[in-house]
Amino acid sequence: MKTIGLIGGMSWESTVTYYQIINETIRNRLGGLHSAKILMYSMDFDEIERSMSAGNWDQCAEILTDAAKRLEAAGADFILVCTNTLHKVAPEISKHLPVPLLHIADVTAKRLAEAGITEVGLLGTRFTMTQAFYADVLAGHGIKVIIPEGEDIRTVNDIIFDELCVGIIKEESRKAFARIMDELHARGAQGIVLGCTELGLVIRPEDTDLPLFDTAILHAEEAALASLSES
Ligand code: GLU
Repeated sequence: MKTIGLIGGMSWESTVTYYQIINETIRNRLGGLHSAKILMYSMDFDEIERSMSAGNWDQCAEILTDAAKRLEAAGADFILVCTNTLHKVAPEISKHLPVPLLHIADVTAKRLAEAGITEVGLLGTRFTMTQAFYADVLAGHGIKVIIPEGEDIRTVNDIIFDELCVGIIKEESRKAFARIMDELHARGAQGIVLGCTELGLVIRPEDTDLPLFDTAILHAEEAALASLSES
């Protein structure tokens, strides 16, 4: 079994999901007392969030590359960045890393393609929804992205940072997401990507008629399977 390196803490509310799903997937595959081999570097999210908000992506890349190198030096065979947003700097991290980085958008695109989806609604931070780094990866797999309009971009972003990343789950936010997902459906979305690793904490399958693609779960499952693969 390969050792998985997790760069977590962004926020830790969703890193919990990663730890649980990876271990459950290994147990389901191997049975008995088997569990995953995991090394984790958990960030102080406050530091990272300040750099992101200031648009200082070079600093984000530096901090995450340092974490990735530490994990690699400690024996990680491949690395996951446990957030969608920080994949904005994934190319910079990969450049300095002798082991593979399992990209969250590649994993998501693979699952969307398997489900036959060509047009998808994307929910995430304002960075993930409005900048090209995420939609471009999906486009590379032939999948078109639809994002919320106008004020809803801020609504989704604010719920993520002001509520979900600090462990607050509100019914009114769930209702706001249900309305926004309805609108994405009406505009042609065939599924919804929960493109923020905390969104699965509030959005449930019954909140929409569309299939949900929870990136935290998909990324974690794929990591567990990759840890068992020969290649
Ligand atoms: N975890 C979230 C994501 O998947 C948002 C927090 C962050 O910016 O890292 O994008």
